Amino acid sequence: MSDWQPLDCHAHSTHSDGVLSPDDVIATAALRGVRGTVSDHASRDVRFSLKSPADIDAYAAAIAHLPYRSAEFCSHDSLWRDLTDAQLARFTHRIGSLHAVRMPDDSLVRMFQKTLPAGLTQRAYMAQHVALVEALADAMPIEIFAHPTLVPHELRAIPGEELWHEADEERLVEALRRNGICFEVSNRYRAHPRLVQRAVDHGVRLSLGSDGHQPEQVGNLTWSLELTRSLGVADSELYDPLVHGTRRD
Ligand SMILES: [Zn+2]
Ligand SMILES: [Zn+2]
Repeated sequence: MSDWQPLDCHAHSTHSDGVLSPDDVIATAALRGVRGTVSDHASRDVRFSLKSPADIDAYAAAIAHLPYRSAEFCSHDSLWRDLTDAQLARFTHRIGSLHAVRMPDDSLVRMFQKTLPAGLTQRAYMAQHVALVEALADAMPIEIFAHPTLVPHELRAIPGEELWHEADEERLVEALRRNGICFEVSNRYRAHPRLVQRAVDHGVRLSLGSDGHQPEQVGNLTWSLELTRSLGVADSELYDPLVHGTRRD
């Protein structure tokens, strides 16, 4: 397919915490030879985001002219549960994210907090993290699991192959496979190749995502595409909802 262009399934506009208008998200991606998507945060727990079903309606109307339209829902927030089927259907694809992990004592550990709570070990955290990835995949009406290796700041310096035990990786990948959800190869939060390879080995489809908020990030898929090609994944197999369909079809 000589006319194939990468599809950035995940980028933000001024409808949430991005700096570009929706049209400029698409134009910026196009300058990189990339087809863009507007996929703004839809969560009561993100500061600048769509926060109600009415916000979703206004947003969907504002981006209705774009070929690829999405929203990024937080698993721990209830907004996605409050949307009607018709509202969810206004997007070409839907993205789910684990932006916070609810612990057994009901407290939240957020991906963007600096340190883990006192007394919470890395292993105890990861056990809960992986369990909630499974719950997310089994419950959310999404096509893409965003940035699958995003973890709290304190754990990001640990090499992925060390932080993620192979049994954890198996559970994550299997949860995506059984639900027909794509594994996002995020340029922003870069997964270790062993995990991406495992997703491929299990027959999980990959998607490309810049998770861009700034002009220099939107549509930048260079690292992601190098990785998928190095793993032998054909460009035409990378997720495109208009080609591969959705879970709603
Ligand atoms: Zn996210
Ligand atoms: Zn995002």
